[in-house]
Amino acid sequence: MKIAVLPGDGIGPEIVAQAVKVLEKLKAEGASIEMETAPIGGAGYDASGDPLPEATLRLAREADAVLLGAVGGPQYDTLDRPLRPERGLLRIRKELNLFANLRPALLYPELAGASSLKPEVVSGLDIMIVRELTGDVYFGQPRGIEVRNGERVGFNTMLYSESEVRRVAHVAFGIAMKRGRKLCSVEKANVLECSELWKEVMIEVAKDYPEVELSHMYVDNAAMQLIRAPKQFDTLVTGNIFGDILSDAASMLSGSIGMLPSASLDEHNKGMYEPIHGSAPDIAGKNLANPLATILSVAMMYRYTFADLATADRIEGAVKKVIAQGLRTGDIWTEGTQKVSCSEMGDAVVKSL
Ligand code: NAD
Repeated sequence: MKIAVLPGDGIGPEIVAQAVKVLEKLKAEGASIEMETAPIGGAGYDASGDPLPEATLRLAREADAVLLGAVGGPQYDTLDRPLRPERGLLRIRKELNLFANLRPALLYPELAGASSLKPEVVSGLDIMIVRELTGDVYFGQPRGIEVRNGERVGFNTMLYSESEVRRVAHVAFGIAMKRGRKLCSVEKANVLECSELWKEVMIEVAKDYPEVELSHMYVDNAAMQLIRAPKQFDTLVTGNIFGDILSDAASMLSGSIGMLPSASLDEHNKGMYEPIHGSAPDIAGKNLANPLATILSVAMMYRYTFADLATADRIEGAVKKVIAQGLRTGDIWTEGTQKVSCSEMGDAVVKSL
């Protein structure tokens, strides 16, 4: 298996180094893994004036899976838009056709105290959010800022084709089948035509999955329900912009964004795996970051691209064990637990593997 390793910016290199330790350990045991590293984001811009250098894209295309850290930093915020680190990320998702973004929101019982909600509301939480990633208002044309009737107007286009909705629906129903067989489709069909079509296609695809119970929820209600009673959800599927917002809200239910991995898949289960958090410039270079979201992203890589569920379970088990042992990076530290650095956390996971 060939893995393109793209550390990116800020804490990216520190957290990816810990995930690479896990991969090296598996390799030492005989797993056939090849890793190659390339710059992306600000690091790509620094190296070759492009947040997604040609050579990086080529490497990612040739690989079976991509492991990404995070991109961005204040020093790049004044660059022209197409040169900004985040554009590199949007482009690689689009170029690799990674249309299905999987974001679990899972709460380890030991971390219930780190959530901003009451422990009884979140304890045992296990939600999977499937967000469509390559369409919607983030990509629809036309878009722009122009002068109309003597004043500036900004505009974007919310657009989904039937086939775009259908393919993400199949991914979501497939995942729901392997979980609690309950899928909630989130949209705003009472106001938006785009959502009306989304809902119709979901209902059509549901016919192929009679074992899955499909429900529908407006996005404003879904935002409220996620905070009010999050355990009512098993698998959620939604469009790009709604998913962007809801998955960030859901991430906080589980205490720290430093704990949450993600996968972005194409039609053949090739995937890009990355923590959901950003490059955390405030703690970059200090060996303070939590590497567990990145390590758990490797577990997702084994689950979804390599279809090696035993190794995925093993990595997740190793993470559970270090949490149970009381090891904590600063973001999840509470009184009575042991504070460790980013690299110490990585070493502990490798040891417990
Ligand atoms: P952020 O996720 O980087 O940080 C938010 C807060 O969470 C910070 O206080 C940070 O220290 C903390 N945090 C994040 N990850 C952590 C970890 N692993 N361990 C411990 N603490 C962690 O979001 P931001 O501050 O809004 O953005 C910073 C930069 O990251 C910006 O340039 C932004 O554009 C970029 N960004 C990139 C991605 C990505 O690469 N996928 C996602 C979001 C933001």
